[in-house]
Amino acid sequence: MAKTAALGRRVELVPMDPHCQDITIALYRQEAADGPRYQVHSFSGRPGVVARLDFVAGATAVLGGMAAVGPGQVRFACGGAHELAARRAFLEACKLDPAQPLAARPLQFFDKKTGHQIHVAPLGGGVYQVALEGGDAGRAAAVAGGLVKLGQMQNPAPDQAAFPCGQAHDALIGLLVVRAVNVRATLREQEMQAARGQLAAPSAQQQ
Ligand SMILES: [Zn+2]
Repeated sequence: MAKTAALGRRVELVPMDPHCQDITIALYRQEAADGPRYQVHSFSGRPGVVARLDFVAGATAVLGGMAAVGPGQVRFACGGAHELAARRAFLEACKLDPAQPLAARPLQFFDKKTGHQIHVAPLGGGVYQVALEGGDAGRAAAVAGGLVKLGQMQNPAPDQAAFPCGQAHDALIGLLVVRAVNVRATLREQEMQAARGQLAAPSAQQQ
């Protein structure tokens, strides 16, 4: 129990890691004086697990634009929680092919639905503006709305999304815009993931 308490609150779970012997990997949130920290952890004692957790934490940091603060531990430089976005960065980090080079995602994305390139421009103060090459304002607003939901952001204008901390998070925007084009499917997946995490909880504790 003490170990679990020190880990903090579990906020995300990958029940079977396809890249490391189907181990269970979870993300824990801890409260610190300088803001929340996220710990990548597994109860598995199998060989290779420590290296795998290091990789996942490192990849989470790159994809989420976060800083490493300890073994398997990351946080946002702004001190904000951005919990949904941190969970997304962790999930994507677990899916990555470890043999491929690691890089944050760009602020552009090809929107299959409209056949146009989406550009997200940082306006400063944590505000981002969505534009489509074809100039489709309705679609730009829909994508901005997707960012607002997935990134727990504010919506200062129809085609804008803003981080409440007032700081830039380019990597998070690159990560989330890919999902924001199909926000309903992503929210559905998040709910299923959460349900699966609850079911997997007891065995995850014992591993
Ligand atoms: Zn922030």
